[in-house]
Amino acid sequence: MLLLRSKYLLTDPYNVINNGAVLIDNGKITFAGPSDDIDRQESHQIIDFGNSAIVPGFVNTHTHLELTHLHKSINYNGDFTDWVRQIINAKKNWAEDEYKTSIREGITRSLEAGTTTVADITRNGLALDELKKSRIRKVLFYELIDFNTYSAESTIGNFKEEINRVKHDSLLSIGIFPHAPYTVSKELYKRCIQVSEELGIHIATHISETKDEVEFLKKGTGNFVSLLNDYDMLNNWKYPGLRPIEYLSNIGVLRNSWILIHCNYISEEEIDYIKKSNSSIVFCPRSYKYFWHNKHPFLKFLNLKINVALGTDSLASNDSLSVLDEMKYIYEKHKDVRPQDILYMGTIAGAVALRLKDKIGRLESGFDADITVIKFPEEGINNVFDGIFSHDSECMFTVVSGSVCYDKYKLALFGH
Ligand SMILES: [Zn+2]
Repeated sequence: MLLLRSKYLLTDPYNVINNGAVLIDNGKITFAGPSDDIDRQESHQIIDFGNSAIVPGFVNTHTHLELTHLHKSINYNGDFTDWVRQIINAKKNWAEDEYKTSIREGITRSLEAGTTTVADITRNGLALDELKKSRIRKVLFYELIDFNTYSAESTIGNFKEEINRVKHDSLLSIGIFPHAPYTVSKELYKRCIQVSEELGIHIATHISETKDEVEFLKKGTGNFVSLLNDYDMLNNWKYPGLRPIEYLSNIGVLRNSWILIHCNYISEEEIDYIKKSNSSIVFCPRSYKYFWHNKHPFLKFLNLKINVALGTDSLASNDSLSVLDEMKYIYEKHKDVRPQDILYMGTIAGAVALRLKDKIGRLESGFDADITVIKFPEEGINNVFDGIFSHDSECMFTVVSGSVCYDKYKLALFGH
């Protein structure tokens, strides 16, 4: 049994305990509360973290770990489709090994940042083996791209074949990821939601990320036309004349709790559709900034009680795979958002989106022990959230399902 103690314990964002302790037994939390309330028994291995906070492990609700090696090798010039072309070209000559090391590095960076769950997108299935080997919790989304009306069925067939080889374990679940409305046909979107309902798996998509995307769907014009023509993908596609979320709603697929990635440009009417479908939105703050967008409507979503989780997206549009860094960024830029709500977005909201809220996201007896410890800087802290979101705070310890996955200062001498 492992007993973790520290100056602060947050069992959830709204419950701060001074001098707190968490007891872990067999992968589960068996106690979380004031340190004085627990008997010190010899069977406990005790780690005292001092000036720090024990918090629920962070949930990265959107990332592409296989792009980790593209860090700083892509330049954004204001044209999203040009960025897409650069990614395609950069990966063109990658061998299997390059993908695998990129994914492995992504997993390591995630754990070092206190992330205990990743929702990862894979194009070629190579992430499966690497993620399965790792003790990080994962939802693996298989990305489908097919803009041809007539081949939706065979694309779904390939997907089903692919996921048939997945051996399930308690840390892994599967999702289907139709890439985006500019690369996925109406027929394929329809089959994806059916398959998600039939197999009981997660469904997510990139949506309303750029003004180009909105223009392409509304008018059939703009930068996406030449991008798709270059790859011979436009074929028989007819633009729907609708905004992205309107489009999903209009073709009858926006139902049953989607995970909608980005939602950067959303009309009032579309917000209504999102709410009615009980979907979650994933906001990727620093990727949003990378693409020169300004003023994401996430506050509006939060006020309407829509679930908003956080994602880092990939290192092709970000500087780290750290959800903590995303939260620090919001803390610094949005003084009007309560810090508790920021931590909620980085923990429980992700668990809600990934249908894991009864297992992770809180430190309570009976929950899986997915925990991270944030070390505070020595000075200048006014309150616990100042400590967690301070520029100089750092993740020092990460536990997933009771296993110590990162231990910066080698405190767990006896392993676990
Ligand atoms: Zn993405």
